[in-house]
Amino acid sequence: MIRPFFCFLAFFLCLFRFGESQTLNELPQDYFVTPLDLDLILSGTFGELRSNHFHSGLDIKTNQRTGAKVLATASGYVSRVKIERYGYGKALYITHPNGYTSVYAHLEKFSPRIEHYVKKKQYLNESYSIQLFPKDLELRVDQGELIAYSGNSGGSGGPHLHFEIRDAASRPINPMLMGIDIPDTKRPLVKEVKAYPLKETSTINGKHEAQLLRLIPLKGGKFKVAPFSAYGEIGIGVNTSDQQNGATNQNGTYHIVTHWNGTQNFEMTFDQYAFDESRYINQMIDYEHFKTTKSRIARLYIPEGSPLSLYQDHVNKGVLQLFDPGTTHAYRIAIEDYKKNAVEINMSIKNDSGPSALLSPTNGQLTYVNHNITYNEQKGPFSLTIPKGALYESVLLDISQNADTLKVHSDIVPLHRNMVINYDISPKENDNIKQYYIGRVTEWGAVYHVNTKRRGNTLSAATRTLGTYAISKDDVPPTITPVNFKHKQWITNNTTLTIKIDDAETGVDAYRATVNGKFILMEYDYKTGELTHDFEDGVVTDTENELKVILTDNVGNSTTFEATFYRKSKPTI
Ligand SMILES: [Zn+2]
Repeated sequence: MIRPFFCFLAFFLCLFRFGESQTLNELPQDYFVTPLDLDLILSGTFGELRSNHFHSGLDIKTNQRTGAKVLATASGYVSRVKIERYGYGKALYITHPNGYTSVYAHLEKFSPRIEHYVKKKQYLNESYSIQLFPKDLELRVDQGELIAYSGNSGGSGGPHLHFEIRDAASRPINPMLMGIDIPDTKRPLVKEVKAYPLKETSTINGKHEAQLLRLIPLKGGKFKVAPFSAYGEIGIGVNTSDQQNGATNQNGTYHIVTHWNGTQNFEMTFDQYAFDESRYINQMIDYEHFKTTKSRIARLYIPEGSPLSLYQDHVNKGVLQLFDPGTTHAYRIAIEDYKKNAVEINMSIKNDSGPSALLSPTNGQLTYVNHNITYNEQKGPFSLTIPKGALYESVLLDISQNADTLKVHSDIVPLHRNMVINYDISPKENDNIKQYYIGRVTEWGAVYHVNTKRRGNTLSAATRTLGTYAISKDDVPPTITPVNFKHKQWITNNTTLTIKIDDAETGVDAYRATVNGKFILMEYDYKTGELTHDFEDGVVTDTENELKVILTDNVGNSTTFEATFYRKSKPTI
């Protein structure tokens, strides 16, 4: 009876360790080891700025190949397995006795013992997508044990391992702080610096407009900015990235500090944050600049209401005050990577005199939306709701409707929470209304399906992306094509059964495959559009096999595919 006592003790120790605030200097240093038997070359760093989120771990390159051995970074037990089409793809979570959890994502497959455990549950649930929470003792692993093979599954843009460490409160933490060593002798890069007027009377070079500043490289990692003038409250932003050794990937940097007339006034460090802070990245960056140029400028001041714990000590939230016409001010941005390679940007700002009149643009065509009040508006057959708090600040939006199209500004203003678009479909009652959906219309006129619910005669879509939405109809069923076999073919030597599925308009919702009436597991890779069954699962044992696949798109159009194939039957073990 040693184990229960030990568990109790470990639990007590965890309470002791994590009940009180734990500072970053107390993090274990020799506890976690490399999760790969490869040089650690990164295609992504912790906290890196990504679409709608900060990157919660390290992306480690695997030589452009899948199948690298993934090793447990420390002993513990598999506490969660998640397999999803998008996102992390196949992911494994290991909980360690010190309360931390390590996460391994975009995997190709698990080690045989774990794979066996997972497949059993997938067959039981008759589903590829699955989430499991094994209990301690079910799947224990030792440090350095093979737990999986790296892959490219889910929303991964190329073979790599996504590796994460989370603390006991499920907050992701920079693995570099825990002794995962990444060689880095290269300085961070600086690409753009921009100045922002923050109040109605603020100006940059006499104009009430954000402006890119001219960046002049000097020697030794130093930059200066062509002199400029400003008045009132302004903020500065920087587009910076970092490279580690072994690759030219432009990853996120680690630490940014600014000084205003010699005094530190803003600091941001990519050490740790909570997942519910992640979407505030859209407020932290210059969202419009990102949407129009694809490059991300981090604002070096704290926006109103931002809860980001990446921010540290600051003076006046990093906002610069220029209310002393005729004076000149010094501003310095220092950027460091984790290995303290540094760059510095110096600028001198001349304090202009204030503007003679209010400079805010006025436009009668635009609708003022107060971010502290829920906005509700009927526009023809549409009703639009932008709930209180969905916008980060009050803004002027271009909201208009024409027939079955509703324009809600464009995606240059971020939304934190969903807006809701409802559409009254009763005039189309005599048509097959099930095939109608709300789609997002791109600049080039393509329509993308938005998850649309139907309640009586109302179509309803919730989305966090401003833009143009239109009512569209999908009456084209999805398609199914065999890839590595033909109807009535002998395929004894095939290790897999692969078919390609596609849906031109609203996309694949669900699929179900059976052989001789028995469920077979087919893994779906949305990037290749392929469904693959592994014969090693041992469920296809007969000589003559009737394959049946039923596929449904997102409005419920469905296609059934049937084919016969033959295999020399093998006895099951
Ligand atoms: Zn990643």
